[in-house]
Amino acid sequence: MQHNVLVGNSAVGRAGLGSFPKPRYDKARGREKRQMVQDEVRAEVEEDRRIKMVAMYQQGAWTRWEHAEQCKVTWSELWRREPQHIKFLIQSVYDVLPSPTNLLCWGLSDTAACQLCNKRGTLEHILSCCPKALSEGRYRWRHDQVLRALADIVSTAIINCKYQHTPKKSITFVRAGEMAQQRQSPPGGLLNTAQDWKLQVDLGRQLKFPEYILSTSLRPDMVITSDASKQVVLVELTVPWEDRME
Ligand SMILES: [Zn+2]
Repeated sequence: MQHNVLVGNSAVGRAGLGSFPKPRYDKARGREKRQMVQDEVRAEVEEDRRIKMVAMYQQGAWTRWEHAEQCKVTWSELWRREPQHIKFLIQSVYDVLPSPTNLLCWGLSDTAACQLCNKRGTLEHILSCCPKALSEGRYRWRHDQVLRALADIVSTAIINCKYQHTPKKSITFVRAGEMAQQRQSPPGGLLNTAQDWKLQVDLGRQLKFPEYILSTSLRPDMVITSDASKQVVLVELTVPWEDRME
């Protein structure tokens, strides 16, 4: 902490000097001072923990999940969940589930082959990319659970959307030497640009792409159409393995 006082407040990014003032250790007193020391110790322990995790290829896989949302499990969720769910969650994060490769590694099996397709049965293969399991629709349930949640949010957003009719703007030319004026997009995003949105989701019965727009046998997971404003929104959902999120 004393060293930090000597170094001073260093600038971060493009922000100007002193944009992010930090409390100074030599000026802090009492509770604040204790808090600063505690934070420093915590950060150091966390750093050690991270170094250890990064060094462990298998159990530290989560350190490579660049764009994964954090899953914060609260106590109340923890005691409401079934014990085997918690067990599965933790074992899958640290890759210690009895996948064929792990069973071979632990000496409990003679082969690391996937029972369905005979490729190497890693956890990633079993949970996310076995071609046979994919064609049999074994991943479908998980995909549809996510799609259902997504569809709920979109349909609520459609009900709550505040449509404001804005007359079509003509092109505004800018004279040489003058500054262009920023156009303001309608607040609240795309859904506020029309009021006759129709939502179709590929759940339950098969989605059929509206034929008066295009005749096709392809079907996205979600189609949102507005006839009045001539807009079509397609949503294709992929539930990937965390390492491939990006
Ligand atoms: Zn397989």
